[in-house]
Amino acid sequence: MNYQVLLYYNYTFIDDPEQFAKAHLTFCHSLNLKGRILVAKEGINGTLSGKTEDTEKYMEMMQNDARFSDTFFKIDASEGHAFKKMFVRPRSELVSLKLAEDIDPNELTGNYLSPKEFKEAILDEETVVIDARNDYEYDLGHFRGAVRPEIRSFRELPQWICDHKDEFMDKRVVTYCTGGIRCEKFSGWLLREGFKDVGQLHGGIATYGKDPDVRGELWDGKMYVFDERVAVEINQVDKRIVGKDWFDGTPCERYINCANPECNRQFLTSLENEKKYLGCCSAQCVQHPQNRYLKEHHVSDEKIKETLASFL
Ligand SMILES: [Zn+2]
Repeated sequence: MNYQVLLYYNYTFIDDPEQFAKAHLTFCHSLNLKGRILVAKEGINGTLSGKTEDTEKYMEMMQNDARFSDTFFKIDASEGHAFKKMFVRPRSELVSLKLAEDIDPNELTGNYLSPKEFKEAILDEETVVIDARNDYEYDLGHFRGAVRPEIRSFRELPQWICDHKDEFMDKRVVTYCTGGIRCEKFSGWLLREGFKDVGQLHGGIATYGKDPDVRGELWDGKMYVFDERVAVEINQVDKRIVGKDWFDGTPCERYINCANPECNRQFLTSLENEKKYLGCCSAQCVQHPQNRYLKEHHVSDEKIKETLASFL
């Protein structure tokens, strides 16, 4: 375990994101780091991996820059890199919410809850816990009893909330996401929409899992991460598997992408079922002319016919 994976963000002003991205990429290369960093006028959001001494140097450099000196890094030990390449990309937004009127979390955001306070909120029956992530992230693991918005991307969340407002409007609401960045804006947006009492898990699930007091308790399943590890453990107290195989509902924590490139849905399934259903989530996807599974494997017409029938 002589590598580390870092996850961090900071809503802070960056004057020229393009110029910054170029220089930052050179710097990351010089430390042999790999990962994905987004830069916008509103700040920075990154996840990267490297040898422990290199990631330590990276954090030191960030902490010596006045713009990033208060950045909180979530750190996982790792056996190697969690990414194949290094990207630093200028963007208009750090997380794509595409609100007509943007939210500045430095001006409007929900109350920050420590892991201990968040655990109390989960146990409080009067509090609604909303998962601010996508449905496929929820399906691998989530806080016990949390609301699961049916969304496949973050920018669908405001509309989903608007459609279900009556269910939560008068209650205390707390939200959580992987590292906390999505909740910064989402909780601010909830306040602007008229929600009265809004809290957010400070540092996200990643922090909750490492906290010495809560030790990930009340988290079920694994946490989805956007790197090659895909799934990481959170609950150190009483682990349960909540992921279910897309086809037969048996316990499962293995993700694949649908072999139809136009669908690309992420879903949980066993290797056995992946083979049985030709890597696809539906009969429609099996029949797509660009089906990657059929391109990569030799599959007889008879087997395809059989698979299509088994979807019924
Ligand atoms: Zn599909």
